[in-house]
Amino acid sequence: MTVTQDTTAADLKALAEQAGRDLEDASALEILRWAVDTFGDRFCVTSSMEDAVVAHLASRVKPGVDVVFLDTGYHFEETIGTRDAVDAVMDVNVITLTPRQTVAEQDAEYGPKLHDRDPDLCCALRKVKPLEEGLTAYGAWATGLRRDESPTRANTPVVGWDEKRQKVKVSPIARWTQDDVDAYVTEHGVLTNPLLMDGYASVGCAPCTRRVLEGEDARAGRWAGRAKTECGLHG
Ligand code: SF4
Repeated sequence: MTVTQDTTAADLKALAEQAGRDLEDASALEILRWAVDTFGDRFCVTSSMEDAVVAHLASRVKPGVDVVFLDTGYHFEETIGTRDAVDAVMDVNVITLTPRQTVAEQDAEYGPKLHDRDPDLCCALRKVKPLEEGLTAYGAWATGLRRDESPTRANTPVVGWDEKRQKVKVSPIARWTQDDVDAYVTEHGVLTNPLLMDGYASVGCAPCTRRVLEGEDARAGRWAGRAKTECGLHG
């Protein structure tokens, strides 16, 4: 099937579900090859700049691939530094998305520290909406989601249907473990966020991320003390 801008959502959904079954046992590179062959320039990678593993894998399949980064205005400086380093040294096209409002503008309208009072609204304004707008030109996007990161991610398909955005969502390393990631980083010298060496297992916005404790799962440091586990990008 050749995917074009006119391919219906129903056909894309069927395609995604079939590919998810067909590629369940495929390697990350084979999954990305399918995505690039199927979507061409209408495929991108999204990266939180926790590490550049998926961007690196995708650039091996499609040099110059678009890598979309969401700059919420609340990132650690190490995360922005990782984004800049990826842009400088890797064969990818980094695209930075920003929310409609700066943090100062948001504070003026909603009051300061919205992330403490209503993190769902803060994520909706600073993550979900900008990504939705930024992905308009694409039919498929790749993420670095892994099944072993948390119970909420345990059923992540390698290729699935993103109902919210009506797009194909590709998770080429869904079956990887942390050891697989570490081995790939070492073998290929992939850039990683320095905070991973400083007690952080998952890196998000500074106000909503803390170091993890011994025995906690990788995402326990995100919105710690709250029921919230996801920002709305993947649910
Ligand atoms: Fe706001 Fe925190 Fe969500 Fe970042 S992670 S957008 S600071 S609530």
